[in-house]
Parts: sequence; structure tokens; C-alpha cells
Amino acid sequence: MLNLVLFGPPGAGKGTQSQKLIEKYGLIHLSTGDLLRNEIAQGTILGLEAKKLMDEGLLVPDEVVIGMISNKLDANPQAKGFIFDGFPRTVAQAAALDTLLSEKNTAISGMVALVVDDQELENRLLLRGKDSGRPDDANPEVIRKRINEYNSKTAPVAEFYKGQDKFTSINGIGSIEEIFGSVSSVVDQY
Ligand code: ADP
Repeated sequence: MLNLVLFGPPGAGKGTQSQKLIEKYGLIHLSTGDLLRNEIAQGTILGLEAKKLMDEGLLVPDEVVIGMISNKLDANPQAKGFIFDGFPRTVAQAAALDTLLSEKNTAISGMVALVVDDQELENRLLLRGKDSGRPDDANPEVIRKRINEYNSKTAPVAEFYKGQDKFTSINGIGSIEEIFGSVSSVVDQY
């Protein structure tokens, strides 16, 4: 199986690159942000709890997102592979993902990190907020909080995969096609 972790701060372009990777490699896209927004749209208890944290730019608890990912892995037994987008976002999530995949006799093939500086991220997220209607994209203070959560809790996840020799970073600034070319050349080596 080809199991890819797409990594990078909020606004790095993970969603955009995921869409292109799905088409090229026939993978299933698992975005914890999308799964959570889906829970919110359906008005579930999980969604109501998550919304409070998401609107403040904070991470939702590990067990919530790990449970959602576990369900999706079970629901797709025939998948050729998965793209994990926005997950794992903490080292505890990364360790749990390794366990879930090993139970299915598979593993993460590699992590590709999109590198974009903080100023560019803030600009992109404010622009996206105008079309997406996402409350967490509309407010500069919430955006900064998300970037802080990323730097304190999520950035260490890169070390986790570096320790397994599964980490590659690429420049996330440039045209969508240029960046996709770089991502693909990494994925083709897995
Ligand atoms: P972005 O990466 O652009 O910030 P996402 O759609 O991936 O957006 O996530 C939006 C919000 O959903 C996050 O700020 C966080 O509150 C929550 N979230 C998503 N994935 C996770 C996760 N793996 N662990 C904890 N919280 C998460």
C-alpha cells in the first residue's frame, strides 16, 4: 500500500495537493479537518464539542481524531492506500497511526512536508477565509493561534518521521503544478 502523510502548517496547500495526488495515485483522502467539519454540519455531539475548539484555533483531543481515522481505515479495506491530510498533528497521533496501520499489516510509506513561511500562510488563510466561509480563517488572531498550535504540537511530528527515515521536505511556494511535480517525484520513490 502507498500511505502518505502530507504535512505542513495551516494554509500550506495540503488540501490542494491531496486532490491532485488522489487522481494520480488512486488513493483515499483522509482529512481530519474535513471529517470534523462534516460532524459539525451534521450537528453531532462530537461536532458540537469540536467546533468550540476549532473556532478558537485549538486542536481537538487526540482520542477524537484517532477514533475517526480508525473508523475510516476499517471502512475502506480494499484501498490501494491513503493520503493523511491534517493528521497526525501530535506525536501521540503519529504513534497511534503506526499501531492502527500495523494491525492492518501496512505502514506509512513517507511524510512529505510543504514548507511555507508564516507571513505567506497568514495571507493565504485570510484570502481563503473570504471564499471558504470557515470561521477559523476569518480572524487574524485565530490564524496566529493555529500557527502557534502547529509550531508547538505539530512540528515535532516531523521529528517522529525523521527518526524513521521517512521524512522529505519540499518548497511549498510556487505554482500548484510546480509543487505537485516536486511532491510526485518524492512519492514515485516510495
Ligand atoms: P488547516 O490545516 O488549514 O488549519 P484543517 O482543516 O486541517 O485546517 O483543520 C481545521 C481545525 O480542525 C484545526 O485547527 C483543529 O482545530 C482541527 N483538527 C483537524 N485535524 C486535527 C487533528 N489531527 N488533531 C486535532 N485537531 C485537528
